[in-house]
Amino acid sequence: MVNLVYFRKYIFVLTYLTLLYLLMQCVRIVMLYHVIFMVNSVCHKWGKKQWSTTDLSRNNWWVSLLSFGEGWHNNHHAFEYSAKYGLEWWQLDFGWYVIMFLKAIGVATDVKLPTQCHKQRMKL
Ligand SMILES: [Zn+2]
Repeated sequence: MVNLVYFRKYIFVLTYLTLLYLLMQCVRIVMLYHVIFMVNSVCHKWGKKQWSTTDLSRNNWWVSLLSFGEGWHNNHHAFEYSAKYGLEWWQLDFGWYVIMFLKAIGVATDVKLPTQCHKQRMKL
């Protein structure tokens, strides 16, 4: 007969780690959705407007850090076709870095960026 008392502490640790894992997955999903929704809520309320758009979109640096570049929302609204959201050198845009990598290895083609003419037209 197997002595279950011997395994009891291992069962407890395994149960504890499983519950901790499930809790962390819930926290991860909640944080992910909050960051995604922040792009379309916070970035339409707070931040700087760099381009002349007809909406309330703003560039918000801290949302951009949390969302890997999606927080440059005024840039996105001004140049919807652009693959690059962080248009200034100091605007970190990790999505753009991934696109540049994919372009370098030949996976991404016909990557569109705003032209100087279009930037002049949209300038405030
Ligand atoms: Zn928007």
